[in-house]
Amino acid sequence: MAERRSSVLVVGSGLAGLTCAADLAASGRETLVVSAGRAGRDGATHRVHALAPWILLTAPWVRSDSPARFLRDLKRLGLGLERSGLAEVLADSAHAAALRLIEELDLVPMDAKPVTLAGDELPRGLRCLPRNRHIMLAPALARCAAAGVRVRDRTLVFGLLICEGRAAGAVVVDRDTGGVSSVEADAVVLACGGGGAVFPVTTSPRWCRGTGLALASAAGVLLHRPELAQVLPVTAIPPLFFPSSATLVRDRIEIGSRVLPPDRDVEATTIAIAEAASLGQPTLLELTAEAAAILPERVRASPAFSQGGRRVPLTVALHHGIGGVAIDAWGRTSLPGLYACGEAAGGVQGRRRTMGTGLLEASIFGKRAAQAIIHDQKERGSHAEGARMAAVPGLPVEPTAIERRLDELLGPLVVLRPREAVDGAVQELMAWPLDGFEPSRANEATALAAIRRQAALEMLGGFREDRFAAEPGAPPAGSGEGRWST
Ligand SMILES: Cc1cc2nc3c(=O)[nH]c(=O)nc-3n(C[C@H](O)[C@H](O)[C@H](O)COP(=O)(O)OP(=O)(O)OC[C@H]3O[C@@H](n4cnc5c(N)ncnc54)[C@H](O)[C@@H]3O)c2cc1C
Repeated sequence: MAERRSSVLVVGSGLAGLTCAADLAASGRETLVVSAGRAGRDGATHRVHALAPWILLTAPWVRSDSPARFLRDLKRLGLGLERSGLAEVLADSAHAAALRLIEELDLVPMDAKPVTLAGDELPRGLRCLPRNRHIMLAPALARCAAAGVRVRDRTLVFGLLICEGRAAGAVVVDRDTGGVSSVEADAVVLACGGGGAVFPVTTSPRWCRGTGLALASAAGVLLHRPELAQVLPVTAIPPLFFPSSATLVRDRIEIGSRVLPPDRDVEATTIAIAEAASLGQPTLLELTAEAAAILPERVRASPAFSQGGRRVPLTVALHHGIGGVAIDAWGRTSLPGLYACGEAAGGVQGRRRTMGTGLLEASIFGKRAAQAIIHDQKERGSHAEGARMAAVPGLPVEPTAIERRLDELLGPLVVLRPREAVDGAVQELMAWPLDGFEPSRANEATALAAIRRQAALEMLGGFREDRFAAEPGAPPAGSGEGRWST
């Protein structure tokens, strides 16, 4: 009798998921990618070029630089909050991974040499543009198709199946039919992106609402510092564009009648904008002609910009999850058979992350998770035969009402996290009435609300523990010790 091929379910079709899936399928695994929207177009990866002026790949590029020096800088910014061994992998692999990404994603470098980014001592930032400006992940989708990966679009994962102490599949809702079903697999990869969209103002797509945190939490899987996330100033006029940190630290920023001092860092700017917003004061960025030229047409066409002397209002947005599902250096989680990679995984970097590393992390750890699955299945086998149990986050009644309430509760907590507001939000979310999991009663709206509520509780719990949390009026965490850079 032919041996049954082992099957792997990959949740998410961003760079991490597609990288992992292509390698798994090439090794003979039956690989299914499930994605909430249209595969390859529904994650943060697809947005990189839409909401930022270029794609940045940060790595040691020049002779005077090295993985050891890069690691030292990653750790300086991390303030000890990274997971052991992970920053080492990023530092060691970044250069080769950046070259691979340029080739695999068909990127074109904008400059002959890397540029020195705000806050850095060495030129590490290679600015690139995609040759195909529409679908950044088209080459990755093509590689998956050639390797035999099956892809299921418009399918939302909202629970894990557990069998004999191992991950054994997922609970999904089909967004077209509304049907809830189980997808069984011998291993599951959480490549479902970060938790930006737990917050109402974010650069992340709506699907990236902390599925990794929520599913892992419901299954009792270890998390790493779910509260760690990067917040950035963006244009308040949609599409929430990031005008580059060189602009944010150099160009004139006005808050009420006050002008921010020159040579500030991005974190101090972010906190100043958030504090002003909490007092009802707008923030205006006045761009040079060169910086204005990179803004999207929609922002330049706005009355605020065209009549206001190249001035745009700024707001702050949750940008990138740094914490997430705890992994080892190969993407293994604390639950056998469950792996995580890309923004869903936590702890490659600590308190502050270096910009231009998200795609590298997705690619490096997507590949490592595939290798770990192949290795683990050879060592231990993969099939569990017992009954499957569903681990699903609590399904809130009145999902529309809780989504609205989450916007109200979390909107003011993007940067400033006063203890009473955090405690009040936790109490209210804990007290929200929940339905037990009953497949015939679950639907897309309850699944989405369940993911967001559970992820929010994990993040809020982390804010309570966060000794670096920005309280109103406090100086930026670790200011002077390091800067964010892009
Ligand atoms: C505006 C912007 C600019 C950026 N600029 C850069 C840059 O210049 N350089 C750089 O290196 N990084 C950059 N980043 C960061 C980088 O894009 C991300 O770190 C990286 O793309 C994350 O990839 P991922 O595969 O982990 O997640 P994503 O690309 O976010 O993919 C997540 C996938 O999971 C799916 N998903 C989520 N929840 C579910 C669910 N419940 N069920 C089914 N599917 C689900 C989503 O639909 C999506 O397919 C930027 C990010 C943004 C938003």
